[in-house]
Amino acid sequence: MFSQGNGLLFKDFLIDPHKVPKGGKVLLSHAHSDHVKLSKKAEFFATPETIDLVKERFGDAKFCALEKNKKHKIDGFEMELSNNGHILGSAQAKFSADGKDFALTSDFRLQDSLLFCGAEPLKADTLVLETTFGSPEYVFPKQIDVANEMTTWVEKNSKKGLVLLAGYSLGKAQELTKISNDAGVIPIVHDSIFESNKIYEKHGVKLGKSLKLDHNLKDSSVLIMPPQLVDRHLFATLEHFDKRKIFSALATGWKHRGAFDETFPLSNHADYNELIEYVRQSNPKLILTDHGFCEEFARKLNKLGFNAKPLKQHKQKMLGEF
Ligand SMILES: [Zn+2]
Ligand SMILES: [Zn+2]
Repeated sequence: MFSQGNGLLFKDFLIDPHKVPKGGKVLLSHAHSDHVKLSKKAEFFATPETIDLVKERFGDAKFCALEKNKKHKIDGFEMELSNNGHILGSAQAKFSADGKDFALTSDFRLQDSLLFCGAEPLKADTLVLETTFGSPEYVFPKQIDVANEMTTWVEKNSKKGLVLLAGYSLGKAQELTKISNDAGVIPIVHDSIFESNKIYEKHGVKLGKSLKLDHNLKDSSVLIMPPQLVDRHLFATLEHFDKRKIFSALATGWKHRGAFDETFPLSNHADYNELIEYVRQSNPKLILTDHGFCEEFARKLNKLGFNAKPLKQHKQKMLGEF
């Protein structure tokens, strides 16, 4: 059943639930904290990369690794995971049972980015589409261009002072690590970023080098931090102890600048146009929109001739009932 606010259920499989029932079987689409809740009394299925990231960030549990691009037969249905371009290990999923297909994008990106290829749209009868940026005001430039622009900005300003880059510790910060290395500077990174960087490297994603932040600010001219740790207090501390001029930038798809000198629209999510493009290529009979601008985007899809509904309005309990 689909339980509102607790992920989706396909047969006996819960997908990214907030509450994990005893003895439950859970599919983790990726390792971001809003998708992961662990329990000792359940079994967790995910890609090997996601399992490594989840273990590092949230601790141990009973895990079962599922390789991408392989059909896995589980409890009378078939499940296949495939790349969705969001972060290391992230996957979209296709379920098949009783002659019907259901696809779920989870958080995804359609275009290629600095580190990953974009998602390849899944074909299915029913598509659950993640619509984080499903509003026309969110159209991003090509991500490779944004990354190149940032690299130039870092190269220039790291010669004049201390560059402070802010981006989520998992996903964005690894792109920032690569950007800094591309700009010729080995960055100092917050602990949480350093540990994720190691796992990216372990799985063959080349980021370049990084140093763990440990009273060593003098050793580099680039510092990468999670945005929630960058506030006025940090700026004041840096200005007091590090006499260099600070050049700060935030990497985010959201329209937000805060105390930063620059905002770069680097995003791990599909923008408005990519969402429409995914649906066009997938062409499902029913689209269930989830997250963000789900209502607004479902209305837009209906105007384009598709059959779409926000997932939260659905009364049906099971993905297989749609
Ligand atoms: Zn995510
Ligand atoms: Zn998410």
